[in-house]
Amino acid sequence: MSEKDRERRAALSDARIDTLAIRAGQMRTGEGENSEPIYPTSSYVFDSAEQAARRFSGEESGNVYSRYTNPTVRNFEERIAAMEGGEAAVATASGMAAILSTCMSLLQAGDHVVCSRNVFGTTTNLFLKYLCKFGLEVSFVDLVNLEDWSQAIQANTKMLFCETPSNPICEVADLAALSALAKQHDCLFVVDNCFCTPALQKPLEFGADLVIHSATKYLDGQGRCVGGCVVGRRELTDEVVGFLRTCGPTMSAFNAWVFLKGLETLRLRMDAHSSNAMALALWLEQQQGIDKVYYAGLDSHPGKPLATKQQRAYGGVLSFCVSGDKAAAWRFIDATCICSLTANLGDVKTTIVHPATTTHGRLTDEQRAAANISDNLIRVAVGLEDIEDLKIDMQRGLAAL
Ligand SMILES: *Cc1c(COP(=O)(O)O)cnc(C)c1O
Repeated sequence: MSEKDRERRAALSDARIDTLAIRAGQMRTGEGENSEPIYPTSSYVFDSAEQAARRFSGEESGNVYSRYTNPTVRNFEERIAAMEGGEAAVATASGMAAILSTCMSLLQAGDHVVCSRNVFGTTTNLFLKYLCKFGLEVSFVDLVNLEDWSQAIQANTKMLFCETPSNPICEVADLAALSALAKQHDCLFVVDNCFCTPALQKPLEFGADLVIHSATKYLDGQGRCVGGCVVGRRELTDEVVGFLRTCGPTMSAFNAWVFLKGLETLRLRMDAHSSNAMALALWLEQQQGIDKVYYAGLDSHPGKPLATKQQRAYGGVLSFCVSGDKAAAWRFIDATCICSLTANLGDVKTTIVHPATTTHGRLTDEQRAAANISDNLIRVAVGLEDIEDLKIDMQRGLAAL
């Protein structure tokens, strides 16, 4: 690293998130490029056999093999770590790989996890179908009921895991209270921050030990790549790196480069997603044919005070119940023309989906009922189209009820 590079890094140590989103982690090569380079190389050459030995043993830091060291991926890791206010980050092949890698590296058979009930459907499946097979125990609790969390903790509990706001009904967890509970019981507190991103919420500031992302969503922001990451104290992320090095669910250099570009505009996009979602939620609440709207920015939502304390804005995802049953919800969805009918979210394109038969379709009826995912519920991840055009599209849905 040159003297100027060192000065540049030092200048960023007190920088604010908008600056970090654009500058953190960048290491210029001798070519003087302004945009971050991509390194599509699987391996790296060494100056000598002795250096190769030092790199392999970890005595000397540096590139070895792109399963666990790649400069573009490292740039993304340093940037997202700086934005979350964490010591270090590890990039993974997907959001699910981030959750799997965290559990595989920090837990073992016989350990117990307490997880909130309304997490991403595939996360529930990962715990129940796969991790339990290897001797992990998992209990699911009501995200907003602290008493429920506290009662679920056992002598072998090693991790509390939650997502806030929850998908799809936007319940809000008390991050400070759950951090305190985790500390009291010597557990790790892990927060999936996919819905807010560090632009709106920084769980580490409320005492969380690790933050998890599906970079596929808002970090990319334009629906191009699948990826994930884990952010937190280096002693923890180093364990996750060890798992990645051995097991390989690694982020590719190309995807890391796309995510770097996404991070540059993250805050602008999150503010725009939030204001569009707020406007749409308020409008939907006034419409005939809508029984209920779930959005933490609404006065009618019980999570609003906590969301206001923890988040800079309320995010881009909302959901609502139409009057009627599953058939009505499907008619509403099929009548829209601008919204994309897809389960993805965090895209500039507005997406619409029927959670009960897609994202949460693998849950049992009881699990769905406990998570308040009724058959007439529709989730919209509000994009950045003109809000008036989105309202007209929702009117097409309402007319089909
Ligand atoms: C999409 C999602 C995941 C999984 O991420 P992938 O990148 O699709 O593997 C995890 N958590 C939340 C909240 C998500 O929305």
